[in-house]
Amino acid sequence: MTTMQTPPDSLIAVKQVHKSFPLPDGKGEFNVLRDINMTVRAGEVVALLGRSGSGKSTLLRIMAGLIPPSQGRVFSNGKPLYGANKNVAMVFQSFALLPWLTVQENVELGLEAQGMPRDERRHRALKAIDLVGLDGFESAYPKELSGGMKQRVGFARAFVLEPQVLLMDEPFSALDVLTSENLRGEIDDLWNAGTFPSKSILIVTHNIEEGVFLADRVIILGSNPGQVRGEVVIDLPRSHDRTSDRFKALVDYIYTIMTNPEVEVTASAPAIVSKTPTETPVPRSPYAKALPHARVGGISGLLELIIDQPDGKDDIPRLAERIQLEVDDLLPILDSVVLLGFAEVSQGDVQLTEIGQDFATTTILRSKDLFRQQALQNVPMLSSIVQTLQEKRSRSMRADFFLDLLDEYYPHEEAERQFATVVDWGRYAELFEYDASEDRLYLPELVAAAVTEEP
Ligand code: ADP
Ligand code: MG
Repeated sequence: MTTMQTPPDSLIAVKQVHKSFPLPDGKGEFNVLRDINMTVRAGEVVALLGRSGSGKSTLLRIMAGLIPPSQGRVFSNGKPLYGANKNVAMVFQSFALLPWLTVQENVELGLEAQGMPRDERRHRALKAIDLVGLDGFESAYPKELSGGMKQRVGFARAFVLEPQVLLMDEPFSALDVLTSENLRGEIDDLWNAGTFPSKSILIVTHNIEEGVFLADRVIILGSNPGQVRGEVVIDLPRSHDRTSDRFKALVDYIYTIMTNPEVEVTASAPAIVSKTPTETPVPRSPYAKALPHARVGGISGLLELIIDQPDGKDDIPRLAERIQLEVDDLLPILDSVVLLGFAEVSQGDVQLTEIGQDFATTTILRSKDLFRQQALQNVPMLSSIVQTLQEKRSRSMRADFFLDLLDEYYPHEEAERQFATVVDWGRYAELFEYDASEDRLYLPELVAAAVTEEP
C-alpha cells in the first residue's frame, strides 16, 4: 500500500483509518473511528474538534503510534508508521507527571530514555524549563506545584524532545478558567514569536473558542462513529483577535455545525476547504440509538433560561458564555431538548417550540405530562423499556437485563451512562421506577393498574 501519496510537507498523514474495539458482549465491535483522512503539514497549528466520545484521543494515540489502527495507515514524514512515533511528543490533560521525581527529572526522563549524555540532558531540560517560565522550580516535586505549574512541566517535558509535531490532548481542560486562559495565551505567544520548539501543533479540543483561537485550521469530528465532517480555515491574522467580527462568525459557524449532525459542511459557508458526506446509519434496535447525556434538571433549566430571552430564542455561543457552561456540557442538553421536540436549532440559534414554551412555563404536573408525551414519542429506548415491563406479569425487570441489551451496542462504561440517562428521564416522566437496592425497574402502581385493566 505504499502507492498512497502524502504531500511533500506532510509530517503526519492519516489515510483511511478505522478503529474499533470489541464490545463487552464478546460478539460485536464498537466502531470508534470511520475512514479518517487528515494531514498535519509543517508550520501549521491544527485543531481537532469534536464532542466527548467522538474518538479524538483515540485518533491522537493512533498518530502517536501508541495503538494501531484497525484498518488504514499512518504516515510519519511520508513513511508508514510502525510502533511508537518518534517524531511527536504528547501533552496530556492529566499532566501525567511522576510524583517521586523533581521537575527537572520529570523533564529529563524522555531524553534519558533516548540515551542522551547527562550534561546535554541537563542543558536541554533547563532550557525547556526556562521556556515554560518555571526557572527556580527545577528541584520542586509535583505535589508542591499548582495545576497550572504542573501542566507547564507537562509542556517542558514535551518541548525538550524537540518533536516535529507537538500533540496536545485537551491540555487546558483540567485547569481553572484563568489559569487555562493564561497558559493558552503563552503557548500562542511562543508560536507566534517563531520560537516554538516544534514545527507543527495538533491540539485536540472540545472547546470551539479554543480551536478558533489557537489553530490555523479546525478539523471537525462527528460522533458515532468518529468521522471527519470537514474543516474550517481560520482566515485571521495571528494572534487571532477574539473581539473581531470574523472570529465571532467563525465560532458561530462551528457551533452551527456541531449542533446539527446533518448539516453539511459546505463551501457556501465561511471558508470551507473540504467536506465529507455524512450518512447516519439506521439504528438496528431502540437501544442502538444513543441518548444525549443530560439530566431532566439540566433540560428544564436550559429551557427556562431560553424562554426569558426575546421570542424564546437565544444565540448559542452567547448562551454558553452567559451560563459559563462548557460546550461539552451544553451540547448534550441542547441535543436533548431538540430530540424531545422542545426546541429547534439552526444557524447557531436555539428557538423554543410551542411545546417547549409550554413545558417551560406550565405547572410541574403538566410539565411531567408533556415530558412523558414527548419522551414516548421521540425516545424509542424509553418506550421499549415500558413495553418490556408491561409484558412481565410482575411488572418489573432486573436492571441487568437492560444493561445487557445496551452492552451489545456500547462499551460498558457508556452502556451504564446510557442506562443512567434513560432511568433519569423515565423516572421523571413517571413511566417507571428504579429501586437501587434491588437494582430493578418496575412500573409505578398507576401505570401498572392501567395496563392490567386493559383486555
Ligand atoms: P474523546 O477523546 O473524543 O472523548 P475517546 O477517543 O476517548 O473520545 O473515546 C471514543 C470512544 O471509544 C468512547 O466511547 C470510548 O469509550 C471508546 N474507547 C476508547 N478507548 C477504548 C478501549 N481501549 N476499549 C474500548 N473502548 C474504547
Ligand atoms: Mg479525549
